[in-house]
Parts: sequence; C-alpha cells; structure tokens
Amino acid sequence: MNKNNLMNTYSRVDVTFEKGLGSKVYDINGKEYIDFVSGVAVNCLGHSHPTIIKALNEQSNNLIHISNLYWNTNQLELAQKLCNYSDHDKVFFCNSGTEAVEAAIKLARKYGINNGTSKKNEIIFMENSFHGRTMGALAITGQEKYQKDFMPLMSGVKSSKFNDIEDLKSKIDENTCAVIIEPIQGEGGIVPAEIDFLKEVKNLCEKYNALLIFDEIQCGIGRTGSLFAYEKFKVIPDVICMAKGLGGGFPIGAVLATQKASDAFTPGDHGSTFGGNPLGCSVSLAVLNELMDNGVVDKVDEKSEYIINNLSILKEKYEAVDKIQGMGLMLGIKLNIDKNKLISKCFEKGLLLVGAGENVVRILPPLNVSKEDIDKCLDILDKALSELCN
Ligand SMILES: *Cc1c(COP(=O)(O)O)cnc(C)c1O
Repeated sequence: MNKNNLMNTYSRVDVTFEKGLGSKVYDINGKEYIDFVSGVAVNCLGHSHPTIIKALNEQSNNLIHISNLYWNTNQLELAQKLCNYSDHDKVFFCNSGTEAVEAAIKLARKYGINNGTSKKNEIIFMENSFHGRTMGALAITGQEKYQKDFMPLMSGVKSSKFNDIEDLKSKIDENTCAVIIEPIQGEGGIVPAEIDFLKEVKNLCEKYNALLIFDEIQCGIGRTGSLFAYEKFKVIPDVICMAKGLGGGFPIGAVLATQKASDAFTPGDHGSTFGGNPLGCSVSLAVLNELMDNGVVDKVDEKSEYIINNLSILKEKYEAVDKIQGMGLMLGIKLNIDKNKLISKCFEKGLLLVGAGENVVRILPPLNVSKEDIDKCLDILDKALSELCN
C-alpha cells in the first residue's frame, strides 16, 4: 500500500494491524502480538469488547450526533455518572485529551479574572510534563522538544519543578489562576507525584485562590486502581482533565470540575461541535459500567502487584533494569540500556510496548488483562532482556 499520503508526523513501526481481540492484535500477515500499549492507555477493556460493540451498534441505530444546541440523554447520564463517582459537580465534554486541557486552561483564565484582577491569568505547569499538542496545551508542556519549533507560544505561563514544593512556593502568587499537574507523569517517564507534594500544592492553591487542575488523561479511568487517580493520592483537585480510556477506544474527552470552578463558564465561553455526542457518550457509559460494576477496576491493584513482583525479579536478574516505577497498570521499566532496543526485541517476539521519557519502557495493558497474557508478557521481557544482556 502507498504510504506517501500521510503527513510525516510519526516515526511508525513497520507493521500494519487489521484485527484485535482482548489483549491481542493481529497484523495483515496474521502474526499475533500481545498489546501492552493499548493504544497508549486508551483501550482499557482491550480490543473488540462485546459491551463496547453493543453500545456502538445500538446507539448508532438511534442517534449518532445531535448538536449541543439541544439536550441528549446519553450526555446527561454520563455527566451524572462521572459526578457520582467523583467529588465534582459539572462536566464539559470534548473529543480528545488536548481539548480537555484547552477547556481547563480557558476555565482557569475565566476563573482568574472573575476572582481577582485582570492580572490573575498565570498558569503554572511542571517540568517534564505533557499536556497535549495544541498551542495552549503545548505552552504548558514542560519539555523543550515538543515546543522548540513552534514559537511564540501562549504567554502567561510559568514552569515549576515537579515534586519540589519550594520551587512552587517561589513561583505562585495572587496572579496565579491555576496549577496543572499530572498525578503520574506519563510521557515524561511514568513518574508519580509524591503525596505530600500534592497536598502542599493543594494548600498553596487554596491560599492564593488558584485552581488545582489534575491532568488524568493517561493515569485516570482506572489505571491506578481507582477510577480517578486523585483518589489514590487523596488530594481532590478543582478540575480534572480526562480522555484516553474514557471511551475505551472511542474518541471522547471531558473536563470535570467543582461547582466553584465551573461557575466561571457561561454560555458562549466555550464549546465543541462533536463534544458529548450521543454515540461517544453511550460507549463511555458502557465502558464505565464494565469498569466499575463488573469489578475490572477492583482487580487492578492485584494485577499490578503481580506484575511489579515479577518485574522486580527481572530487575535482580538483569543489570539493564534500573528501576520499576509507576502505579496500578501504569508501570515503567527504567533501563540502563537504550529503551528502543528492548522495545524492538519485544516487538520481534510478539509483544507491543511503548517508551516514555529518557529511558523508560511503559507497561500499559488493558485493565481487564488476563493472568495468562501478563505471564506471556513477562516471559517475552525475560527472553528479550537475556538476549540483550548477553
Ligand atoms: C495523551 C495525553 C494528552 C493528550 O491527549 P490527546 O488525546 O492526544 O490530545 C494530554 N495529557 C496527557 C497526560 C496525556 O497522556
């Protein structure tokens, strides 16, 4: 097939997929792979899950899209569910992670001018963060490689060191309208925030009446072993950005906010043509039902412990493994060797993995992954490491 019509935005692996089932995917030659990338933490129920297929089929027979000029029951039901599961009151729907971040940025700016002077517009972000590729989200992404060729970026932003409360203290003031943090930095290398750090960030935000925004786009929707990552850290943010796993593969994003934060928006302030469409919301409702009512999220901690224990054995066995990090089913293997070597070796042996940060390989299985597929992954990792280390 001609591969010249796509813009040169990705360095893709030389494989073409055409079918997926559970934790496995099949390329056009029928070769099977264990998929521990899950579309980068998107396919939380694996591929071709019957619940998702049913929702898609049934809803597409009724109503796929209707404008936000009108109400639709699926959107209302999904909003209510997200609010019931969280400590939050209001939802805005969009279609992707970066759009959720854009909505949060606009909400923070409006909150700032409503609650301070016209100078209360500054957003503080963390070094090594990732919040998306659109110009607003890019401006608060603390990694030069994503930003350098796209200047000038949005102004009114400041970076602060992750897990360093003293640095934040020196930057936050009454002109800060928000602080945005990933509870676990994803693209930055699966680096969790320290609980005490987040608690102090929350205190500082309260002191200066700035919104605390958690970007849970990668670490949310059950990845950490609770539906929202903030539950594990026991720090309630004012605003949460969601996407990736929210639709189990169907594109949908959302911003969840407390009444106080969400009050800033009034009609006309923000919108999205596709956001909250009946099809996306019905799929997301099905995903949440499966995750929460069928015990998928409840089993994440147990699976996580099993994987961490076994990865720790590999760490003892191979010097190439430096550290196991992360939480739940969002784990990282920090290496002393080039991460791409391990990823390629695993790929040859039928295991899909993706890198992060400097030298981390991510383990992002579907949340309903079987023990059998976990064992297959561990076995391939063991063999790959043994070949690379000898
Ligand atoms: C993936 C990701 C985004 C961007 O999401 P898109 O859907 O690709 O726009 C933002 N923040 C975090 C933490 C992410 O992992």
